[in-house]
Amino acid sequence: MACKCPTDNKKGYCAKCSNLRVVFMIDKAFRHLYPNGNPVYYSFLSEEKKHNDLETVAKKMIYRLGLRHASHTTVVKVYNNLLSGRPEIFTYKRV
Ligand SMILES: [Zn+2]
Repeated sequence: MACKCPTDNKKGYCAKCSNLRVVFMIDKAFRHLYPNGNPVYYSFLSEEKKHNDLETVAKKMIYRLGLRHASHTTVVKVYNNLLSGRPEIFTYKRV
């Protein structure tokens, strides 16, 4: 599912059109492994449509991406990418 804005890149998510912006907050001890800063991901448009519930979409993303970042991250922040100011809507902390 592609987005409809001019930046459409056929990946199925988009920095402009995706509803969620998910940021893995890399723990201090591992920041040197991430020279470009905390990894940022945008939700798949097809998944947003399928679930019609942002928290479900966020949890699925965090589960999938957590497999990659779990050992370096304890906090994940989820922002609403479509509202002005991109307010934070969920924070997940691993205990
Ligand atoms: Zn777009």
